[in-house]
Amino acid sequence: MANFAIIGAGLAGISLAHQLKLGGHSCAVFEKSRGLGGRLATRRLDHWQADHGAQYFTASSPAFTAELGRWLDKGWVKPWTVTPWRLTREHLSPSPDQQQRFVGTPNMNAMVHGLAAGIPLYMKTRIDRLEADGDQWRLWDEHGEHYGNFDAVILTAPMAQSQALLPAGVIDATQIGSQTMTPTWAMALAFNQPTAIEADAVFVKDGIVSWAARDTAKPGRPQDYETWVLHFSAQWSANHLDASPELLQQQVVEVLERLSTAALPEIHQSFSHRWLYARAATAEPISQWHAASRIGLAGDWTQGNRIEDAWISANKLAALLLKEYA
Ligand code: FAD
Repeated sequence: MANFAIIGAGLAGISLAHQLKLGGHSCAVFEKSRGLGGRLATRRLDHWQADHGAQYFTASSPAFTAELGRWLDKGWVKPWTVTPWRLTREHLSPSPDQQQRFVGTPNMNAMVHGLAAGIPLYMKTRIDRLEADGDQWRLWDEHGEHYGNFDAVILTAPMAQSQALLPAGVIDATQIGSQTMTPTWAMALAFNQPTAIEADAVFVKDGIVSWAARDTAKPGRPQDYETWVLHFSAQWSANHLDASPELLQQQVVEVLERLSTAALPEIHQSFSHRWLYARAATAEPISQWHAASRIGLAGDWTQGNRIEDAWISANKLAALLLKEYA
């Protein structure tokens, strides 16, 4: 039995811990935030909530499709049957596709909570240093507390945050690849009354906003207010990293006004969130296990940039580690 430290309690970290635990190993997961799920995020406010990170997921590989079947059986996720629309400067029209979309229920991160059962979690624990101790690893957090020793450490944070934790010279930088991760501003609003917007989900092609969705159209969401989530494009977000909530709200309202056939109702509440490392811009699979240092890498960016890629990264690394530590 090996003792693994996993940094990051997003889908990749928790799926990996779940599979290693099923394989008879012990795992501890360290997470800097208060909650599980990472970029699978739902914020709850006063009688309303909104998914301000990932919006939905699809499944294409047989392995992830089988896993999705288990999540559906558990009630952690549900299909989101939605016809996307398309908004350009001139047109707003339905843009139906064959895509089957799924969301976590009642929150985007429900499956992460389900998979985390029985796994020791160290929440609000930001790891900021790895220290070698013979052929083991010790972890240090930002308050100078240490944890360990561990036989191997798996980093599942977004690329820049994982790279920052690698002790100098442990893994050649060229093996990590040169992916960049782009930012995304998200804004969520709750309206006091229903809006006069027909579309539930809109791909926006105006360069500023890239996505608008009625969060209350997703299955299992509270219905006290009509809620919307809008994402700004990567380019606009990168150029406006310090955008004020007022500027964001002004842009969002302009888009929603274009979608609506009547004046917008009064806004009950809103919030914004900046994802500095939202999506990997390129999607080149990288080498995930470095046997000499006993450091592993997982997370969407090691395989691509979507929820399915995050799970696949964990599934691939779990298979490799279960062999290595059989
Ligand atoms: P994360 O969820 O980022 O988990 C990593 C965790 O590591 C985080 O919880 C973080 O807090 C933690 N961490 C970081 N550093 C440390 C440290 N030093 N110590 C301890 N913990 C640390 N994908 C789709 O498939 N469909 C979509 O519609 C979609 N839309 C998206 C929209 C937005 C705005 C964003 C941001 C992402 C979207 N994605 C989408 C991508 C999807 O969210 C990710 O692919 C997936 O959630 C990544 O999971 P992960 O476990 O690899 O990483």
